[in-house]
Amino acid sequence: MTALPLVFQAPSRGMPLRHLADLDRDQRRAVVMELGEPAFRADQLARHYFARLSIDPGAMTDLPAARRDRLVTALLPPLATPMRHVCCDGGTTRKTLWRAADGALSESVLMRYPNRATVCISSQAGCGMACPFCATGQGGLTRNLSTAEIVEQVRAAAAAMRDGELTGGAGRLSHVVFMGMGEPLANYQRVLAAVHRIIHPVPDGLGLSQRSVTVSTVGLAPAIRRLAAERLQVTLAVSLHAPDDELRDTLVPVNRRWKVAEVLDSSRHYADTTGRRVSIEYALIRDVNDQPWRAELLGRLLRERLGALAHVNVIPLNPTPGSAWDASPLSVQKEFVHRVQAAGVACTVRDTRGREIAAACGQLAASPHSAG
Ligand code: SAH
Repeated sequence: MTALPLVFQAPSRGMPLRHLADLDRDQRRAVVMELGEPAFRADQLARHYFARLSIDPGAMTDLPAARRDRLVTALLPPLATPMRHVCCDGGTTRKTLWRAADGALSESVLMRYPNRATVCISSQAGCGMACPFCATGQGGLTRNLSTAEIVEQVRAAAAAMRDGELTGGAGRLSHVVFMGMGEPLANYQRVLAAVHRIIHPVPDGLGLSQRSVTVSTVGLAPAIRRLAAERLQVTLAVSLHAPDDELRDTLVPVNRRWKVAEVLDSSRHYADTTGRRVSIEYALIRDVNDQPWRAELLGRLLRERLGALAHVNVIPLNPTPGSAWDASPLSVQKEFVHRVQAAGVACTVRDTRGREIAAACGQLAASPHSAG
């Protein structure tokens, strides 16, 4: 068995100052009371942040001017600066590069569809999982993001939608997917707290529906079971990419620790506990994992282990710098989908956004210099 990658060392270097989005309601009140202020000031600050989606102290005129600075310093320290926005898809997809207080870089992608708007957020700066087809995996892990750094990506996206910053006018952020940089379940506590802030009703949280939040993982089986025990209704996505251990050991190196069978067993447990269908992500790579026999094996395995509780999302491979790998030809992709479906398993191809601005699945590298 190989040693686990860096992920479990949970670096604390560079963690930002405490922020109100790190804290639940009682914790926020306790901080405010330590400052000698009445507890309701914490609720006022939370209303600015979660309900008005504002981080501008100048707009917080309900806080006495003499106290505003102290409260803002204690609970709303600057977290991350949007360094750059890049748009494509006619202005309906926008990637944001964030620079944290210690210089750590991460990215989020806001995507507007006819009936919904989704933000794809990062849970870590970089990633320690080292999947060879993913640009984030090539750069390694810088550090975990704090709860507030994760929530802040969602707040900013919700404000951008409300303010009509994407083509199509004012709208509402409806969905959050933890499919940006990082492995969410390797930053478990902070991600879980972020999920709570995201789904908690306004003004204690951002008030999104649990079912519109998706946590995507390489398949850290014990963490999947732990998440099941939280009794949340969030969607679980599992990045499988191969039905056999031999290939998955190379595509998703953490498979050497938790094998396909274990990953699927924990996924089944998640589905049984929550009643939610699990998304199985499958990046289709030409001549690597796209063979008809692999489609059949995938279909058979999922039918046996998950039955109607699985939904396969095929993602045509997005190009990454320095990789020789390629998406499968359309005919091969169609055949693959057909064979999975023929095994009795739901299977669709994911609509990919943001490829030309390096904002699509697996392309987030948070490079301050690249054109993307
Ligand atoms: N670490 C988590 C969260 C990232 S989600 C996870 O792996 O699930 C990003 C998704 O995009 C994952 O399913 C990942 O495997 C997939 N992906 C990575 N590189 C890709 C690429 N080059 N083309 C298409 N999908 C890719």
